[in-house]
Amino acid sequence: MAGRYGSDKLNMAILILAVLLEILYAVFGLQVLAVLSILLIMLTFFRMFSRNIAKRQKENHFFLELISEAKMLRKYHIYKCPGCSQKIRVPRKGGVTVDVSCPKCGTKFRKKI
Ligand SMILES: [Zn+2]
Repeated sequence: MAGRYGSDKLNMAILILAVLLEILYAVFGLQVLAVLSILLIMLTFFRMFSRNIAKRQKENHFFLELISEAKMLRKYHIYKCPGCSQKIRVPRKGGVTVDVSCPKCGTKFRKKI
C-alpha cells in the first residue's frame, strides 16, 4: 500500500451503502441495485488504491463537511431575517416561541422553534 491512499470515512460510507443496496437487491430482486452495489465497491477499491492522495483527501474533506452540516441542521433552525435576509441560527427546542433579534440589522421577530 506504499504510495496508495488507503481507506477513510468516505470509503466506509460507500461500502456501507453498497452492502445496503445488496441487501435491498436480495429482498426486492431488482438487478439495478446489484449493479449499483458492484459499481460502488469498484469505486471503493479505486479510491483505496489511488495514488492521487490530495484529490482523495479533498473528496473525504467535502464528505465530512456535508456530514457535519447535516448534524448542525438537526440541532438548529435556520431563519431568514425579514428585514435584511441575514440567515440566523437558532437552537431547536420543542414547541417554544422565542423572540429572535437579528444581529446584523436589529429587526426583532417571533418564531416557534
Ligand atoms: Zn436583519
